[in-house]
Amino acid sequence: MVDVGLEQAFAKIRAFLEGDFEHPGLTLYDLQNLVGYSSRLKYDGPLSYTMPPDPALEGVGAVRLYYYPKDPEVTLIVEIEDKNRKRHLRHFKWNGISWTAPRGLKADLTATREALPSIEEVGGDFFLGYAPEEARELAGSIRRGEAAGAKYMLCTRDNTRIFYAPTSTPPTIPCPRCGNTNLIFKTLTLSSPEDRIEAILREQRALRTSIEDLLLYLKRKLGP
Ligand SMILES: [Zn+2]
Repeated sequence: MVDVGLEQAFAKIRAFLEGDFEHPGLTLYDLQNLVGYSSRLKYDGPLSYTMPPDPALEGVGAVRLYYYPKDPEVTLIVEIEDKNRKRHLRHFKWNGISWTAPRGLKADLTATREALPSIEEVGGDFFLGYAPEEARELAGSIRRGEAAGAKYMLCTRDNTRIFYAPTSTPPTIPCPRCGNTNLIFKTLTLSSPEDRIEAILREQRALRTSIEDLLLYLKRKLGP
């Protein structure tokens, strides 16, 4: 069973470490500041920092970061304590630029990575739960107008289509292109081949949305 709270906490930490659209990732310097590290003092054990309350962390007991100033292999351990007080540890080594996995230790920041279906992008459409080859095949039959009945979700913001495999339960994912969670479930009805122009237009629309998002992001970063 998927623990949504745990899943959310992992996603939050992942964005925190790696950065996302709104924040840069955590650097070693940031981590040292968080835990109150000072190079002038000697530390034997790790220094810790507990993440402050956050809606994204409500589903778990606590999230702590442990900084190991002296360890040559492990720089940071992330500890996520779930509601059953079970501790999930992820280990990281700072390589000077980013956080990497130390040899033989678990570093992936997902609670249930294996349960997540794969997503493929072909010609501006997304295909959830399809193997790359299947996705390409389906994309071809959609273009030729031979895929009536195919189920998809339509993003209300940028018209991105996410086709999902009929065997899977309808997915609850945000639009992979813009993050919009407002998606409409639809069934492909077209009987005539989809115009190539139409496909190009859709790709263009999607591209435009990406550029607008990027501009917004840059404006926020650089100020007015
Ligand atoms: Zn979208």
